[in-house]
Amino acid sequence: MAEGRKINTETEILGLIGYPLEHTFSPYLHNYALDKLDLNYVYLTFEIRPENLQEGIKGLKSLGIRGVNVTIPYKEKVLSFLDEVDSLADEIGAVNTIINKDENLKGFNTDALGFKRMLEEDGDFEINNKKVLIIGAGGASRAVGSVLCRNGIKELYLINRTRKKAEELGHIWQKNYPHVKIETGILAPEYYNLLLKRVDLVVDTTPVGMSPEIDVPPVISTEKFHSNLLVVDLVYNPAVTTILDAARKAGAKTLNGQGMLLYQGIEAFELWTGVDPDNIEWPGDIFKI
Ligand code: NAP
Repeated sequence: MAEGRKINTETEILGLIGYPLEHTFSPYLHNYALDKLDLNYVYLTFEIRPENLQEGIKGLKSLGIRGVNVTIPYKEKVLSFLDEVDSLADEIGAVNTIINKDENLKGFNTDALGFKRMLEEDGDFEINNKKVLIIGAGGASRAVGSVLCRNGIKELYLINRTRKKAEELGHIWQKNYPHVKIETGILAPEYYNLLLKRVDLVVDTTPVGMSPEIDVPPVISTEKFHSNLLVVDLVYNPAVTTILDAARKAGAKTLNGQGMLLYQGIEAFELWTGVDPDNIEWPGDIFKI
């Protein structure tokens, strides 16, 4: 319990569910903000074994838990146990935040909302009408592509090591957003070098370059990077991955995944408490937790 707050009968409970729950940033982030804003909540962790997931979700209602974050491996599985799912989370097929309001459990995807907020607030990037290249077709890519399409991008190119996964995701987006030009491909320079000339934004959603493998070459060749690009890597540790280093050297603007990580938490916090904690001063070492 963070110093300064007292647990009493009015204290509302927030938390994180997952299995196994490894070292995570969320309890630190939320308890820090609750403390700073003097809100009568506490954020705990709940490791729920797979066979108990449905019972655990029911327990949120019976124990009056105000809200939880959801992490690996339950982001997709929880959807079927909720009363309501926000339309963006439903489209992505993953929920990372649940609110319990009067025994109605509603799921949201604040990873997607956090990514959007990072682009707009930290990247000063206006999404509408832009052309985008996304690398990778996993869970994070689903969130990023959906939120970009929803916010008015004009063209979306999705490239992935496994062609089939890119094609499947591309079909889903094309069905939901017929007005966006969507193309898929593999990680072949003959294909993406032409696209690099065309797009405004490149988003690397692969784990390539993530600690401890920080010296591996970028997932795509960066020869054609240029100064009109914004290059985003969702990896947040290290702060400057090899792809971001190359982008900086080419004069491009860059963002790492720290903003998305922080904003997904901020968006969840606001959904539960009604308070936007964006103005509090975060400790300098927050991403090293
Ligand atoms: P995921 O579902 O496992 O998807 C990973 C994707 O990366 C797949 O498309 C995979 O390609 C591709 N990939 C993996 N290793 C590769 C390699 N060596 N070369 C080329 N492609 C490779 O993972 P995820 O949940 O989307 O997460 C991806 C990354 O985003 C992780 O680093 C995660 O930490 C980060 N992330 C950050 C935030 C944030 O808040 N900043 C939020 C979510 C995720 P195949 O399809 O060919 O396997």
